[in-house]
Amino acid sequence: MSKYVLSLDEGTTSARALLFDKLGNVVALSKHEITQYYPRPGWVEHDPEEIWQALMRAVKEVLQQAHARPEDVAAIGVTNQRETVVVWGKDGKPLHRAIVWQCKRTADLAERLRREYGEVIKEKTGLIPDSYFSATKIMWLLENVPGLREKAEKGEVKIGTIDSYIIYRLTGKHVTDYSNASRTMLFNIRKLEWDRELLELLRIPEAALPEVRNSSEVYGYAKIDGKEIPVSGDAGDQQAALFGQACFKEGMIKSTYGTGNFILMNTGSTIHTSKNLLGTIAWGIDGRITYALEGSVFITGAAIQWLRDGLKIISSASETEGLATSLSSNEGVYFVPAFVGLGTPYWDQYARGLIIGITRSTKREHLARAVLEAIAYLTTDVVKEMDVFTQVRELRVDGGASENNFLMQFQANILGKRVVRPVVRETTAMGAAFLAGIAVGFWEGLEEVSEVWKAEKVFTPRMKEEERQKLYSAWKEAVRRAIGWAKVVGEE
Ligand code: ADP
Repeated sequence: MSKYVLSLDEGTTSARALLFDKLGNVVALSKHEITQYYPRPGWVEHDPEEIWQALMRAVKEVLQQAHARPEDVAAIGVTNQRETVVVWGKDGKPLHRAIVWQCKRTADLAERLRREYGEVIKEKTGLIPDSYFSATKIMWLLENVPGLREKAEKGEVKIGTIDSYIIYRLTGKHVTDYSNASRTMLFNIRKLEWDRELLELLRIPEAALPEVRNSSEVYGYAKIDGKEIPVSGDAGDQQAALFGQACFKEGMIKSTYGTGNFILMNTGSTIHTSKNLLGTIAWGIDGRITYALEGSVFITGAAIQWLRDGLKIISSASETEGLATSLSSNEGVYFVPAFVGLGTPYWDQYARGLIIGITRSTKREHLARAVLEAIAYLTTDVVKEMDVFTQVRELRVDGGASENNFLMQFQANILGKRVVRPVVRETTAMGAAFLAGIAVGFWEGLEEVSEVWKAEKVFTPRMKEEERQKLYSAWKEAVRRAIGWAKVVGEE
């Protein structure tokens, strides 16, 4: 009997391999940083070959750590930084560096698409046109890499997101899953196929795109030390985290507190349309699609880093917890971390950061508290948008800043809902492992996986409604004052 599932978690800054046992414990973990290339201001690239090599090294290391043989591994799951695009040949060799989701080289093109086709694209793909998604990056490659278009039209080029590249290198199969496809801005999330009209509009040959498969099924077999292991799970990182948090029922929601926050809600078989949230595919299993609503907050943990590295008023992120709890209230000090504008639900690229309510007695404790509270307010803003569709009962949390107990308690207080932190915080990698394991019967199905997922701590709201209203409306007023500031100072 195989003892483990191997999860390959390829993020923006590192490539990691993790081994999970049947109880969902992380038995071994290995991680390698990925080189970030910035060929021009605003451009970001990765080397796909480096990613592949780093992953393979990590795989060797986790097997060694666990004293495991390849036959101890029941299945391999893949999860990845979403939207990033790779082009490669039949031999698996990249034909260009990967264009990373953060890359702004196609901003003008995306802006034009938003103006001219925004409504149609949102209807078909659930997304608001932006250079962040894969479509315009693929277009750029076809236009700018010499000979690529001709080769692509002859069927000699493979295009895909990072998951697709990794699975190709592992198995020789050119596939992706529904969740990753739904982030390309080329996939029709209603008809569940590459959208012919969009492909034509953007001049992208369908033959170069991967086949879109379930997030949990055997795609092929990877040979590790001569042993064949099924590759049977695939989901984009945020969707994998939703799965790893066992948010299997409609209305279940998770928030990842990292550099920024990503909040996803399972919406079951319904595609909700919302002006401020993105509609996306959570996963597909046995041909049945589960949809999600997604909201993103750009700067959350990054504001903590700014206190540490910019202002230098703390020496570690965790110090904020003690500083914040040393005060019994925020004493009227609010912080709006709109360093790069504001995302969901405000969508104002001209907003800028603001600290308000400062008096002669304001100390670093107030700033630390105000930043932590802001993270909770911004998350609340998104959850309130989602609450319109389904009554959200609790928020499942993960990511670096979810370690902060003050933040988690304040989150519960201001949201007025339970906040639940799981024992295993590696929810992204765990999601990919669950998907892969379910496909091969390592876990029976969603029910068994729900039991593997365990809460470590539950934060219950401890604030009177009146107090909550008072604080939240002051927050809204602070945001109002931060909106459009770049325009005021002529920085547009
Ligand atoms: P990412 O995957 O985006 O790099 P992580 O999930 O590793 O992010 O989380 C790192 C972020 O969490 C950093 O921005 C850091 O400032 C913040 N962070 C880590 N620990 C704490 C803490 N105890 N309190 C508040 N913020 C924290």
